Amino acid sequence: MSRSPSPRTLADWQAMAAGLDFESRAFLDDAFVDAVSGDTFTSTNPASGETLARVASCDAPDAERAVSVARETFAGGEWSRLAPGKRKKILLRLADLMEANKHELALIDTLDMGKPVKSSLGDMAGAIACIRYQAECIDKLYGEVAPTGEESLALVLREPIGVVAAIVPWNFPLMMTAWKIAPALAAGNSVILKPSEKSPLSALRLAQLAKEAGIPRGVFQVLPGFGHTVGKALALSMEVDCLAFTGSTAVGKQLMQYAGQSNLKRVYLECGGKSPNIVFADCKELDKVASHAAAAIFHNQGEVCIAGSRLLVENSIREAFIDKVLAAAESMQPGDPLDPESFMGAIVDETQYRRILDYIRQGVEEGARLRTGGQALDGPGLFIPPTVFDGVTPQMTIGREEIFGPVLAVFGFDTEEEAVAMANDTPYGLAAGLWSQDIDRIMRVTRRLQSGQVFVNNWAGGDQTMPFGGVKQSGNGRDKSHHSLEEYSSLKSVWISLAT
Ligand code: NAD
Repeated sequence: MSRSPSPRTLADWQAMAAGLDFESRAFLDDAFVDAVSGDTFTSTNPASGETLARVASCDAPDAERAVSVARETFAGGEWSRLAPGKRKKILLRLADLMEANKHELALIDTLDMGKPVKSSLGDMAGAIACIRYQAECIDKLYGEVAPTGEESLALVLREPIGVVAAIVPWNFPLMMTAWKIAPALAAGNSVILKPSEKSPLSALRLAQLAKEAGIPRGVFQVLPGFGHTVGKALALSMEVDCLAFTGSTAVGKQLMQYAGQSNLKRVYLECGGKSPNIVFADCKELDKVASHAAAAIFHNQGEVCIAGSRLLVENSIREAFIDKVLAAAESMQPGDPLDPESFMGAIVDETQYRRILDYIRQGVEEGARLRTGGQALDGPGLFIPPTVFDGVTPQMTIGREEIFGPVLAVFGFDTEEEAVAMANDTPYGLAAGLWSQDIDRIMRVTRRLQSGQVFVNNWAGGDQTMPFGGVKQSGNGRDKSHHSLEEYSSLKSVWISLAT
């Protein structure tokens, strides 16, 4: 099955990178084209500072064209009215093509945003699994017959919505894309994808594969560009029926306003987090738990929506436990993202890098105790090592705000009550973890945590069968599982009067 070679060593990945040829134009109406304005922006490798490509910088005129093509193809029915089993076949072909090109796709994400290639390969597995899962679901979902009297037959039909604009972030470029486009396409919609301006290249390679898989003209289009230009134009469009967004809470709020200012389009949001990871003194195997707690924040350079960025440790074990976390952090230092042994890579860009270092400075100024890290590594790339602060209080900036970097804030607590109150003391509600051997405590605390995901004796567990999303200001949508298909379809009620 595998068409691309299987690189194993740093030298293999470097050789493969040297031979890459990036598609950098927009994919619109079945063709790769420059932006109407001719403008481009630079895609840079944050691990080396090298320019990778000049990418088409789409804006309102490109959005208008893409939306009009998407509307036309949706109305034409070549995809929207295609039998679900046939859509499934094409999507499965796309998944196979992604599998055959997974090393190249992983490499593109690594070069574009700095994550270690080992993580990117994990993302590819997740993206491919998501496309297969949603493709397999779509011809197994039934409509309903409502329980009416015999003078009528009442049907509840499930239909695609129309044009879906998917706006995604840069931290898991292709995986976040798959979480949106797989259910949206499976349900029969026409989809316009706007990747992040910080990681546009894998989406454009995906467009080539989608075309090769046989997704019809105009059903899947990709518009690279900035949020305030092409993203905003899509969000304000009167002809876009649904916005599927993953990104920051601040931008999520803006998108809801754009929907209100335009056509009341559906807006599904997957936003930020400041997730609590609670370690009770009764948990076993503290070394293992500490290693998971460190990976929960340092994986993907801490650029993870569900990063376990607040570690709440019962005071009776706190000192000893922090020592174990520090030891685990020591083994998670950043390295060349192309080295398959690297646990952490580079920070995505200069803006994010400065932002993280600014938070670290504030942590020190506000009186938190810096236990390790805190200084950027020498260039040329943008590398920040695992950073741990102890003695953090809920009033401190680093204890409240999403940093989106490798910075762990450790809090102490004495009682279960206090731990739950501290965990919930945040505008976010994306993920929460707890480590304990006491089943009564586990169930009590799980019920009381205000969070879309609760991980018990693990961090970030889950597969395609589980919905993923937040509560509170972490958003209102659900990616993955068959529940995500509900977001991309409408219910139509049909009441048929029968002669009796
Ligand atoms: P961001 O909100 O800055 O950008 C996300 C996307 O929105 C990008 O494509 C961007 O170009 C676009 N955008 C920005 N302004 C826009 C506007 N005015 N109109 C339309 N589009 C606009 O977020 P980011 O920095 O790319 O990603 C990091 C954030 O994403 C973090 O807060 C993280 O927690 C969150 N995130 C959440 C999840 C989840 O599943 N809940 C997953 C990954 C990342």
